[in-house]
Amino acid sequence: MKALIVSDVHSNLEAFTTVIEDADRLGGFDEIWSLGDLVGYGPDPGAVVDLLREYPHQAIAGNHDLASVGKLSLEAFNPYAAAANTWTAGVLDEDRRQYLVGQPLTLEIDEFTLAHGSPRDPIWEYVISVRAAIASFNHFETYWCLVGHSHVPFICRPDAQRGAVFMSPPLGGSFDLGEERLIINPGSVGQPRDGDPSASYAMYDSVEKTVSHRRVIYDISATQDKMRLHGLPDFLIDRLAQGR
Ligand code: ZN
Repeated sequence: MKALIVSDVHSNLEAFTTVIEDADRLGGFDEIWSLGDLVGYGPDPGAVVDLLREYPHQAIAGNHDLASVGKLSLEAFNPYAAAANTWTAGVLDEDRRQYLVGQPLTLEIDEFTLAHGSPRDPIWEYVISVRAAIASFNHFETYWCLVGHSHVPFICRPDAQRGAVFMSPPLGGSFDLGEERLIINPGSVGQPRDGDPSASYAMYDSVEKTVSHRRVIYDISATQDKMRLHGLPDFLIDRLAQGR
């Protein structure tokens, strides 16, 4: 079984479409696992929800999904994110809204726990520090854990001396999951923040027991044009080209 692992698509239809085409070209997949923040920031929330639902999939909610359906206050978001979530809430129809409302905060599939932020706090916590990583390892029962939220791809493993170690995933190759517990972030499809503006995703192969991280260039200016048309904040438009 192969699972296409995506996170933080953020209503970016061009990026999501390009990722699916790339995964198809490289051998295909059986289902999609979405780690949350399908919507928010970008111009195509409804179409992104629809595209995911065309495939067999498993999906959890992220903080932007919850805010866009009224399950989380906008007060905790910065003004740009809040503006985009307000716009998103206004354009989602009831069917797509109900789909997002029904998403759980965590899921266990195979040997994986899925959580948007962290297994300790799926809504808000970022796994970006050794301290957060150590706490995270104590909050899931499965062998491996998949998170998103930071928009930065990584593989993190426990370390006897330092507590935990973050590694940049190998690009163009696969990572052997081996016998260690791991926390893995596929990066963001729709708004990467690691300095590389190309869409980031990962593929899990349950037979080979590997995860492969991949990057793919998409039509950023097409997404930006639509964001301008809808009056979404310039800050959010500009950052797509910078990958920040
Ligand atoms: Zn996000």
